Amino acid sequence: MNETTLEADYVIVGAGAVGMAIADTLAEETSARIVIVDRRARPGGHWNDAYPFVRLHGPSAYYGVNSMALESGRIDQIGLNVGLNELASGAEICAYYERVMQEQLLPGGRVTWLPMHDVDEHGVAVSLVNGQRQRLVARRRWVDATQADTQVPATHGPRFDVADGVTCLTPTELTQWQQPAAGHVIVGGGKTAMDTALWLLEHGVAHDTITWIRPREAWLLNRAHVQPTPAFAHQTLGAIVAELEAARDATSLPDLFARLEAARLLQRIDPTVQPTMYRCAIVSEAELAQLRRIRNVVRLGHVRAIGIDRIVLDHGEIPTTAGHVHVHCSAGGLPRGPAQAVFQGKRIVPQYVRRCSPTFSAAFIAHVEATLFDESEKNALCEPVLVPQVPLDWLRMHLQTAKNQMRWSKRDDLQDWFRGSRLEAYTGLFERMQSEADPAWTALQSRLRQVRGPGLERMAELLRAADGGDGQRSSSVGTAAERNRSVVLLPTNRLRHGEWL
Ligand SMILES: Cc1cc2nc3c(=O)[nH]c(=O)nc-3n(C[C@H](O)[C@H](O)[C@H](O)COP(=O)(O)OP(=O)(O)OC[C@H]3O[C@@H](n4cnc5c(N)ncnc54)[C@H](O)[C@@H]3O)c2cc1C
Repeated sequence: MNETTLEADYVIVGAGAVGMAIADTLAEETSARIVIVDRRARPGGHWNDAYPFVRLHGPSAYYGVNSMALESGRIDQIGLNVGLNELASGAEICAYYERVMQEQLLPGGRVTWLPMHDVDEHGVAVSLVNGQRQRLVARRRWVDATQADTQVPATHGPRFDVADGVTCLTPTELTQWQQPAAGHVIVGGGKTAMDTALWLLEHGVAHDTITWIRPREAWLLNRAHVQPTPAFAHQTLGAIVAELEAARDATSLPDLFARLEAARLLQRIDPTVQPTMYRCAIVSEAELAQLRRIRNVVRLGHVRAIGIDRIVLDHGEIPTTAGHVHVHCSAGGLPRGPAQAVFQGKRIVPQYVRRCSPTFSAAFIAHVEATLFDESEKNALCEPVLVPQVPLDWLRMHLQTAKNQMRWSKRDDLQDWFRGSRLEAYTGLFERMQSEADPAWTALQSRLRQVRGPGLERMAELLRAADGGDGQRSSSVGTAAERNRSVVLLPTNRLRHGEWL
């Protein structure tokens, strides 16, 4: 088949949340021509395959692209997110990205959208509909926005054997099953499993008929503390201060997590089990209370096989029946790719540059690309913050985020951008609060000034101590000496935009 050539300034492979945030910022801030390609039929990446009851677990207010709001400004009045900023559903997110494409990106005439095209290792986009081949040429940069490799149950089946006659469903299939079950068995300990448990309870399934196979326990963020909107300004800054105070006063790593839990910053479903997982999952306290109602928790490792009458796990077996519905919630989620530079000559590899902030990070990287030229300068502003997996990553993410933000805070040219960015929700909010004569705010700021340096220094010490047995993993970004130097350099006597976390 004939091969044609399609040339643009930027070729973005992947129209998920990251590719879309980059395309949006490049389209807004440059006059570049952009090609954006995805093998899916619609923009939005993994959200297109998500189960019907999925929602963002962090507020809509700072998810998506910079140029278009996803939120309506609502505080939820009902449900398990009551009193907090709204959380867009999967369907709303997909519709949003369709609007971003149709109303923001395409009308300008500089963006070409190639859905249903797979990009091969030679840079050829092959239509999945008619097989046509287009060689993609990036005059400026090739943006690889496929790195997340998001794995959800609908696209990544169970990694255990399932015998004939066993009902094992994805969460999507669960909503289509429409047959009462003798009992439900949830397989997995992550956010998808939590959503499924809440969905079953919400649909009147008795808590004692649910078996939850949870190979590992996770530390969970408390949604009440990640609400950077005006109604929640005090509690948001208060949480940042409390995190730093917990770190400053921690005598050891276990003591740090105990303090974070006591301050209700981190939570776990079962307070008697030590978490070995941390993946930035966010739940409300009301959701946590519901999840704790499920008492039949199996901790015998991972499932190896589900048979008609038994489930075989790493460390034992449990009974089941043909009448039980088993729900596969054990896809990998967000696997961690290798740490690498964001700017690599003609190639950009977007990664987090602030903790747990995929869309802000993508927009920021695009802004840096649009406004700066020197590659080492660009990389210095965009050092990757790793995707967390284990509790120690809480420290690694904080320290690398602090290091990046320290660099950003020294750049006057970035401050306006932060202020105007909907995805960087903190700067504009805190600046507004600073301009009001509010004694409570002033007190919080003064606590932040006092604790920021000591808190970060103690985090670095705790990480160094833990690195004794785990040095390789924590040195994935910079050396220990570099991390410490950045902590020492942090200005502790004044607050500037971009310095908050
Ligand atoms: C259930 C769930 C809930 C989440 N909730 C939140 C939240 O509340 N807040 C938050 O900040 N984050 C959340 N996340 C994290 C989330 O992963 C990111 O927000 C973001 O959606 C990831 O986007 P992405 O573009 O990196 O990846 P993806 O969505 O995986 O998109 C990558 C795209 O690349 C395409 N692609 C890959 N290879 C090729 C190829 N060779 N050719 C063509 N196309 C290709 C894929 O088809 C895909 O569309 C959640 C994640 C999950 C799984």
